[in-house]
Amino acid sequence: MNNSYPIKEKRAAQTSDCTPNIDFRSDTVTKPTTTMRECMSQAIVGDDVYGEDPSVNQLQLKVANLLEKEAALFVPSGTMSNLLALLSHCQRGEEAIVGDQFHIYCHEAGGASALGGVVMQSISSTKTGHISASQVANAIRPDDSHFAQSKLICIENTVSGFVQDQSTLESIAELAKTKGLVTHLDGARIMHAAIKTGLTPAQLTHSFDSVSLCLSKGLGSPAGSVLCGSQAFIKKANRLRKMLGGGMRQSGILAAAGIYALDNNVQRLQQDHDLAIYFAQQLDLIEQVSINVAQVETNMLFASFAPAAGKNKQQSLTAYLRQFSISIAEGATCRIVLHLEISREAVDLTLEKIKAYYQQ
Ligand SMILES: *Cc1c(COP(=O)(O)O)cnc(C)c1O
Repeated sequence: MNNSYPIKEKRAAQTSDCTPNIDFRSDTVTKPTTTMRECMSQAIVGDDVYGEDPSVNQLQLKVANLLEKEAALFVPSGTMSNLLALLSHCQRGEEAIVGDQFHIYCHEAGGASALGGVVMQSISSTKTGHISASQVANAIRPDDSHFAQSKLICIENTVSGFVQDQSTLESIAELAKTKGLVTHLDGARIMHAAIKTGLTPAQLTHSFDSVSLCLSKGLGSPAGSVLCGSQAFIKKANRLRKMLGGGMRQSGILAAAGIYALDNNVQRLQQDHDLAIYFAQQLDLIEQVSINVAQVETNMLFASFAPAAGKNKQQSLTAYLRQFSISIAEGATCRIVLHLEISREAVDLTLEKIKAYYQQ
């Protein structure tokens, strides 16, 4: 048979043909390194929907052990992980109590309500993500036919890079238990909290019925999150994952990246935290930048940049920096995120360009 598809030359590894880019918008932009890719290419795989992918099973066991939970489930994204948790814990018409700045409430397209009929009650959190046990206590509805039945309390750690006070979280979990509610921790960046506090991931998560952890943020995997909890909870979540189309087949290729990330990229988060503080201190020396250096806790910082007065009046700082392949978010208060692709040299170059923007 005549094969009409010409066989193309193998593409060069993406890492070498990409223009160098210093991207501060998020830690999700990290691309797998050569060694991570090698690990992925050698992964032993099977059909994970049959539960037969050894690499997925190894990752799930690894994370369950790390967080000291009975079971774990590898899922395509953090959003799906949280959605599975909400749908597993709550029936239609039942209520989840969430912080109004939490990812589940603001950045997941209202999935739990749209797809699962879960009622979301938001309570106002501070800028640093804090909610108090008494706020939660006030939000829990009495058993009255007028009200949706409160079922679940969602917590997040870190929130916008801020580590939550552990004793507050424990008292919220305790309150949930006494009221017969369940708890879910969105721990997308829980490893950052572990590095910052010196507590183990299990110490940070033991009070919660379920926990979600992202592999594709600061840990540097290309995709994937892991949801943990009891055997019964994970069994439900597994059925829902299939229902939502998140059952992948030879996903051990991705799980291998996650295993590599957990083995190699956790301790190094300290470097990102150190660099975030350094960057904040240097920005604080620039007159047109306002920043609270003392508030930098993990890999994120928030800075406000005044408009330029001189030659660059017409151009935003974001647009100016783009000429040098430096990406920062647009907006009055700018979130800057440090991650494994950003070196001290990259930060110094960025500082130099920000100064130049104001000097011209
Ligand atoms: C990124 C993030 C998620 C969702 O992860 P995706 O993989 O982007 O869907 C959930 N919660 C928090 C706190 C996050 O930062």
